Amino acid sequence: MKPVFKELEVCVMEESFKELKEMLAEITDIGSAAAVLGWDQAVNMPPGGAPARGRQLAALGKVTHEKLINPRVGELLKVLQTHEQSLDYNSNESSLIRNTRIKYNKAVNVPTEFAGRWQSATSESFDIWLKARPANNFKMVEPYLKKNFDMCKEYAEFFPGYEHPLDPMMDNHDYGMKASNIREIFSNLRKEMVPIVESITSQEPADDSFMKLGFEGKKQLEFGESVVKAFGYDFNRGRQDMAPHPFTISFALGDVRITTRIQEHFLGSALFGTLHEAGHAMYEQGGAPSLDGTPLRGGTSIGVHESQSRLWENIVGRSRPFWQHYYPGLQKHFPEHLGNVELNSFYRGINKVQKSLIRVEADEVTYNLHVMMRFDFECSVLEGSLDVSELPEAWKDRMESDIGIRPKDDADGVMQDIHWYNGIIGYFQGYTLGNIMSAQFYDAAVKEHPEITEEIGQGKFSTLHDWLKQNIYQHGSKFTANELLERVTGNGLDVAPYINYLKKKYGELYDL
Ligand code: ZN
Repeated sequence: MKPVFKELEVCVMEESFKELKEMLAEITDIGSAAAVLGWDQAVNMPPGGAPARGRQLAALGKVTHEKLINPRVGELLKVLQTHEQSLDYNSNESSLIRNTRIKYNKAVNVPTEFAGRWQSATSESFDIWLKARPANNFKMVEPYLKKNFDMCKEYAEFFPGYEHPLDPMMDNHDYGMKASNIREIFSNLRKEMVPIVESITSQEPADDSFMKLGFEGKKQLEFGESVVKAFGYDFNRGRQDMAPHPFTISFALGDVRITTRIQEHFLGSALFGTLHEAGHAMYEQGGAPSLDGTPLRGGTSIGVHESQSRLWENIVGRSRPFWQHYYPGLQKHFPEHLGNVELNSFYRGINKVQKSLIRVEADEVTYNLHVMMRFDFECSVLEGSLDVSELPEAWKDRMESDIGIRPKDDADGVMQDIHWYNGIIGYFQGYTLGNIMSAQFYDAAVKEHPEITEEIGQGKFSTLHDWLKQNIYQHGSKFTANELLERVTGNGLDVAPYINYLKKKYGELYDL
């Protein structure tokens, strides 16, 4: 009789898995529909649409939350527990159950009422920030920012036993990371970075004045798009639009969009911005087709996502071999501006290290210091040792002591980033984790294919792109960032390859 039971059991498992998969597909589709509304809000929507859009997004946010915490999901996860253990850990099925269990266990702690309130609060504060920043009026947005941080503390209380009030939010962006891990990683990195920054910024700065002439927007776009097409970004499954705060957004494997911002008086903004966003987008486009329509489709964490964007933007796009190939083409695009600028001067200019105010425009060397101060402020505000009202001055002081430049106003100080005002807290660390991982992944790729560097110098990217697809992209979010690092590099997070990369590159440009 036993085989019959066995068959029955298999049948129940298959049915349960099918039911779970269908429920998750619906949640994923509603989430993607909300993402289309978010894209429209950032790219097309007239300002008058903001209040209604806020409501619509909050309504969808509530629906997906309710669907995820449906007790039936919990029942199915229980039924599937033994099935999961019998499956290959690397299989899609096992990964989907594992991933859902993590999300479900977290989501059931959060009341739907909070999820809706959080959505409306953050879209309201975002809306106020849009007006407060150009008016340089922090007071205007201060109560809203305070509310976002208070709600972040409230969110932490849904997870009793947390080590730091930032942890539960951070865990949503970089799964498994805690403030204490980040403190340790940052302090190791800081020890290495500060002397490099000090040494470089005490030397004669590179000349990048040729980047700040008037560059025709249309031509900037054309050039950037030709490069990312060569990288492997598929325009049949993507498009590029304009947005004041560039981002990548993905609705399905067949629809992954990027945005950029043109500044006629700064060539680097659209150019490197496009390479960066295309790095994110290729990660999303490169998921295995079998993951489409499931929650496993997208990238696994903010850190890994940033490692992909930064790899293409910086390690490839700001490298000498890359420009040996592309610079003559760029000169032809802008003969009147760049015709007399030599490759070497151009290379130095795009890798200029300087004391700068704005994180997104910061060079590779000072960038992480911008991130570290944001992380420290998040911790202090949540710990209660710093009040939101004190942030503007604390920001200026820290910029002065860390980077050596004091912002004149709050627009280019505490209000420069969209994140906190949009409820994105516990996220900034992902940029630096991404920098660290980008070097680890790139080293692993070159170790397997030493020809990659030479190919970049010939404008060929398929070996690198295929390797990334094979080792990283195709897995979507089947594996956590740590699992992925272990699989690909044989190691956990390690700052050494990144420090080596910086020392080698900048050691050739400056006296270190
Ligand atoms: Zn990014």
